[in-house]
Amino acid sequence: MKVHEAIDLGPAGIEPVGDGPALSVIVPVYNEEPGLAALFARLYPALDALKIAYEIVFIDDGSRDRSAALLAAQFEARPDVTRVILFNGNFGQHRAILAGFEHCRGARVVTLDADLQNPPEEIARLLAAMDEGHDYVGTIRRMRRDSAWRRWASRGMNQLRANITHIKMTDQGCMMRAYGRNIVQLINQCGEMNTFIPALAYQFARTPTEIEVGHEERFAGESKYSLYSLIRLNFDLVTGFSIVPLQWFSMLGMTVSVGSALLVLLLVGRRIFIGPEEGGLFTLFAIAFLLIGLALFGIGLLGEYVGRIFQEVRSRPRYVINAILERRE
Ligand code: UDP
Ligand code: MG
Repeated sequence: MKVHEAIDLGPAGIEPVGDGPALSVIVPVYNEEPGLAALFARLYPALDALKIAYEIVFIDDGSRDRSAALLAAQFEARPDVTRVILFNGNFGQHRAILAGFEHCRGARVVTLDADLQNPPEEIARLLAAMDEGHDYVGTIRRMRRDSAWRRWASRGMNQLRANITHIKMTDQGCMMRAYGRNIVQLINQCGEMNTFIPALAYQFARTPTEIEVGHEERFAGESKYSLYSLIRLNFDLVTGFSIVPLQWFSMLGMTVSVGSALLVLLLVGRRIFIGPEEGGLFTLFAIAFLLIGLALFGIGLLGEYVGRIFQEVRSRPRYVINAILERRE
């Protein structure tokens, strides 16, 4: 069920906060020192060319290089349109974006990676799609420039997610997206610890759409996602949005139990009518190991959900802000 059927925001939903600008651009930054200068050099002219009031909210996600200093310098250079949120540790890309959502004031919000993989010039096309009445604009990367295994893995995950969560996203990996203020407000009301913002937004969107955008190689530095953190992110996406895996697992458990019950009956029958047998011992081993493997997987899956509940009930802050650099109105 789509949540927006229950919550009606009325037709507005695109008003800025107070006298906020027409557009907020949110950029999470984690150890991006080598590429930041190039980002500034392309992002600001691209936004100036739009001829609308805008703000850029950078979130430094606890970088250990000089990213925070570069952001502070950029704030000095363009204080009229720049705001910088400095985290006091590394909380992850999605929490950084959530902080941006909570602090931005624009009527429309665009999220962007700091590594120039999403060309800033494409923001105009995202806004054009919003002009057509869409409150959420997703993106599909044209000619994706990532390693083959990343493309292959994300295709598989896209498929699994589509089946389990009913969230329709052709390309879940691209974070360059545009959100209406109504969506951002709804996301701000969700206190979830670990979430996947495009999926959350999709659930709230009334008129979501997708457009194709260009994709470039990382300008400098390297991807912050290891195989492990990509797997974690996908658990957030699947177990954070659906209990179908649990339901599948209980169905599997049921089928396996019926199968093993039949096997026991068969073996008892043979014991009575034919006599005891030692042959086939290793077949039993194989079956037992399979069942043990399944049970372990089930415990792990349960653990995913229990861990999620644990994090929610502790209700610690999602992120801690050290300082915010912004011009006093
Ligand atoms: N990022 C972040 N915190 C993290 C990891 C990444 O703020 O813990 C930022 C990073 O600086 C970049 C964006 O999130 O702006 C996407 O990261 P990356 O380019 O490494 O991901 P990929 O494009 O490889 O999926
Ligand atoms: Mg990237």
